[in-house]
Amino acid sequence: MRDQYDIVVVGAGPAGSIAAKFAAEKGVSVLILEKDRDVGYPVRCGEAVSRKGIEEFIEPDEKWIASHIHNFSMIAPDGTEVFVPLEEEGFILERRIFDYELAKLASSKGAEVLTRAYVNGLIIEDGQVSGVKYEHRGEQKEIKAKVVIAADGVESRVGRWAGIKTHIDFRDMESCAQHTVTGLNVDKNTIYFYFGSKVAPQGYFWVFSKGSNSANIGLGISGAAGKKRSAISYLNDFMEENHPNASILTTIAGGVPCSITLEQISARGIMLTGDAARMVNPLSGGGIASGMIGGSIAGRIAAEAVLSGNLSHILTYDKAWADRLGKRHEIFESIKNGIYNFSDEKFNEIAHAFAKVPIEKRSLGNLFKTALFNKPALLIDVAKVFFHKRA
Ligand SMILES: Cc1cc2nc3c(=O)[nH]c(=O)nc-3n(C[C@H](O)[C@H](O)[C@H](O)COP(=O)(O)OP(=O)(O)OC[C@H]3O[C@@H](n4cnc5c(N)ncnc54)[C@H](O)[C@@H]3O)c2cc1C
Repeated sequence: MRDQYDIVVVGAGPAGSIAAKFAAEKGVSVLILEKDRDVGYPVRCGEAVSRKGIEEFIEPDEKWIASHIHNFSMIAPDGTEVFVPLEEEGFILERRIFDYELAKLASSKGAEVLTRAYVNGLIIEDGQVSGVKYEHRGEQKEIKAKVVIAADGVESRVGRWAGIKTHIDFRDMESCAQHTVTGLNVDKNTIYFYFGSKVAPQGYFWVFSKGSNSANIGLGISGAAGKKRSAISYLNDFMEENHPNASILTTIAGGVPCSITLEQISARGIMLTGDAARMVNPLSGGGIASGMIGGSIAGRIAAEAVLSGNLSHILTYDKAWADRLGKRHEIFESIKNGIYNFSDEKFNEIAHAFAKVPIEKRSLGNLFKTALFNKPALLIDVAKVFFHKRA
């Protein structure tokens, strides 16, 4: 190990590994510091992604794909099920292997990875972040860097240490709980989404198959709903009612920041990416693909800044992210707020209306349109999404 790197990345999740890969392949020196003993473990994720979101960064590989998803099923509060064939394939991942492979990909481009390295402070000189302090095997150490990329996940502290405002409204921090279960029958090519106040108020409940007899079963509800009743108690009720004999292999609980991206995601010597920057898609709660997009932009810009000798170039990151996805997330966030406030009756009406659409004419786009026509004000926001796409 060197005593100085061009770029130090904190966290070996999807955002951190992809940031490291994009930087290292430009020829700068990169070190990833990961606090856990194993990259990719523990897993705190439903593991659903679109093929498109993944293949921009890594060739799909069966060793980290648990299920290939071709259908979407929406279950309304009154039990009406609406089945939609998907135009684009999705995957349920084995993130334990997937995250590991992303770290290997970064390493294949020259990045070094150090596990059991817990970052506990920043080196700041003349108002500029110039490295990190970390603990490794009981020893306190320091390492200098021209740029620090904070990819330290939802509980990120690195940005705050640099003076960046990382706080988000508690209502936007979704409370999630999930069991990975086996011994149940689910269609291995369908993802199921349940809506309604009984199963997931201001959120949704999911069943993501991991093969024909296993699944990730969980829910995410708004911080406000989670304060009234915990996500895990909704999960326990659902299991009792629907899968009383299934075996629970793991249980996780955690937050997903379903907000717009932080106002500031770079400052002198530091960039924030992935969950740490609040890059999760606020409508779906998915943060794997968007975190990798954020990481790729951060890694590329950080390397360009180092190679050009103009470190202030990293400050262009905020705009680059906003143009690629950040602005679209602002629209998704207002759509989320509209949909989350639908009553049970509204969800039932949407399902009944959509159930009349012939199967060959069904698509997620059409389902979405049906939902939007129930809330006309949202149409203006959607129009803006398309405007941003073209801009
Ligand atoms: C219950 C649940 C279900 C979800 N389901 C989905 C889903 O189906 N699809 C989807 O796309 N997204 C889902 N998400 C969101 C998704 O998991 C995250 O958005 C994604 O993991 C973000 O990637 P990241 O690299 O930013 O952070 P992470 O994957 O959290 O990685 C951060 C890394 O930083 C390390 N770290 C943290 N602090 C330090 C430190 N001080 N020093 C060193 N290392 C540190 C951590 O150990 C970790 O390895 C879900 C989240 C939850 C909680």
